[in-house]
Amino acid sequence: MLTTVEQAMNVNLHTNVFDVIIIGGGPAGLTAALMLGRACKRVLLCDAGKPRNQVAHAAHGFFSRDGISPTELLQIGREQLSLYDGVEIQVGEVVDAQKLGDRFQVTLSDGNQFVGRKLLLATGMKDSLPAIDGFAELWGGSIFHCPYCHGWEVRDQPLAIYGKGEVGLEMTFMLTSCAIWCSVQMVLPN
Ligand SMILES: Cc1cc2nc3c(=O)[nH]c(=O)nc-3n(C[C@H](O)[C@H](O)[C@H](O)COP(=O)(O)OP(=O)(O)OC[C@H]3O[C@@H](n4cnc5c(N)ncnc54)[C@H](O)[C@@H]3O)c2cc1C
Repeated sequence: MLTTVEQAMNVNLHTNVFDVIIIGGGPAGLTAALMLGRACKRVLLCDAGKPRNQVAHAAHGFFSRDGISPTELLQIGREQLSLYDGVEIQVGEVVDAQKLGDRFQVTLSDGNQFVGRKLLLATGMKDSLPAIDGFAELWGGSIFHCPYCHGWEVRDQPLAIYGKGEVGLEMTFMLTSCAIWCSVQMVLPN
């Protein structure tokens, strides 16, 4: 006999419930899935496949994987998850999540629905780029957000810093006085 919550979710909670549903399969979601898989949990990882650094050619500063392509890094993460029987991956965007009773129901854009005891959000963050002609095209190629990730590749080259307020000022100090990535700077307050 199905409970009211089960009827609302259109699912049998005793047979078809994941311990954890993770939304987001970037480094954070894959790490969570790995640790939960190793803890013998039944995990569903839902990923829309648009990681924050998708425009970058290489990811740097990650121990043992310095310079790897971001796509390959995620591919290795997914491959390693395949060892763990309890972890499933669904490719697709989660468009809805509801708490019904003590369960969470997520709906993917293709209409598929899944139920979990816990919901883990690993959706990353979205960069909102300034509306400057050409900025979006150069983002991740020659415009960077992080000197630790990409400063080495452009060291000793002329550099313009774009930023405002304390954050822009801090970045200027970091690049000029604390580090030696570059010798020439131009500060463009916005
Ligand atoms: C241009 C650039 C270069 C970078 N270079 C480096 C570097 O060299 N080294 C470094 O350490 N870091 C680098 N970073 C930072 C790095 O990208 C982030 O730290 C990292 O991606 C964060 O991982 P995450 O899992 O939190 O988020 P993300 O990698 O953004 O992954 C989030 C995932 O969740 C998915 N998602 C979001 N919403 C939904 C939804 N509703 N349903 C299903 N899936 C969803 C997204 O599609 C995405 O696949 C760079 C960032 C940028 C922008």
